[in-house]
Amino acid sequence: MEVFQIPSPLQQIYHPVFKEKEIKFYVKRDDLIHSEISGNKWRKLKYNLEEARSQDIDAILTFGGAFSNHIAATAAVGKKEGFKTIGIIRGEETSKNNSTLSLAKQSGMRLHFVSREDYKLKDTSEYLEKLSRQFGDVYIIPEGGANTVGVKGSEEIGKEIDIDFHYVCCSLGTGTTFSGIVNSIEKNQYAIGFSALKGEDKLTEVVQQFEKVKRNNWHISFEYHFGGYARRSVEIEDFIKSFRAETGIPLDPIYTGKMAFGIVDLAKKDYFKRGSTVIMVHTGGLQGIEGYNNRYGASL
Ligand SMILES: *Cc1c(COP(=O)(O)O)cnc(C)c1O
Repeated sequence: MEVFQIPSPLQQIYHPVFKEKEIKFYVKRDDLIHSEISGNKWRKLKYNLEEARSQDIDAILTFGGAFSNHIAATAAVGKKEGFKTIGIIRGEETSKNNSTLSLAKQSGMRLHFVSREDYKLKDTSEYLEKLSRQFGDVYIIPEGGANTVGVKGSEEIGKEIDIDFHYVCCSLGTGTTFSGIVNSIEKNQYAIGFSALKGEDKLTEVVQQFEKVKRNNWHISFEYHFGGYARRSVEIEDFIKSFRAETGIPLDPIYTGKMAFGIVDLAKKDYFKRGSTVIMVHTGGLQGIEGYNNRYGASL
């Protein structure tokens, strides 16, 4: 397995819309950090692994859906860094052998399927205690690596950016990565989050809770979720293909494709000032494309 590419590259991208609007556009390529440990998942896992080591625990237990990038990343990182891994997977018996879970199994992750009802209990102390009794001495990471050390790792995304910029954009699931970015920018810089989920207005509160200094230099857009989490959108598929043809940058249909669509749309609507510099954080997620294609018969 190859080494981690940290800091991740910051790449200037040419795209006709940004050219027309006189915007400098850069992509922070966290998708290139590692071929199997996708982008922001490494950021969020890094200090969690450190924490597990400091507690002398050699097994990681975490949660995710059947196509979860976080599950795939945790399995791969566990293998690489010498941790046993246990994945508590939400329902979906039919997807047991999908590409994400097969890869996780190949990396040695023990998969444990639970009903949707049980999965909803995943943040309650009773359920976590039950899992600890069942699986022994485990370090538990919440779904998506959504905890304070996950935010701490994500702060390094912003700290690595060594050019002046005005806007930084990031896709949101749990909001952990975006919280880290918000914590790492200056007060004269602005962060825009793009929710990949529908009806998750509580995400704003989540980020406020992780925010270290209260400033009004960020917001989350809920306008570009395209039907909600992991739904099929032909519009997004077409966008991903044309964006790749124009820029060479691959995007995933669950998170980064929606964000990039949103950024291009905002640029078309003159949201960004002329002459400004916009950074798009590419959080990775490309491992999910195969599962998406298989599920929907798509050809990304
Ligand atoms: C998991 C994931 C996200 C969401 O990150 P959060 O920290 O949960 O908000 C965004 N993009 C990609 C590619 C992801 O895999």
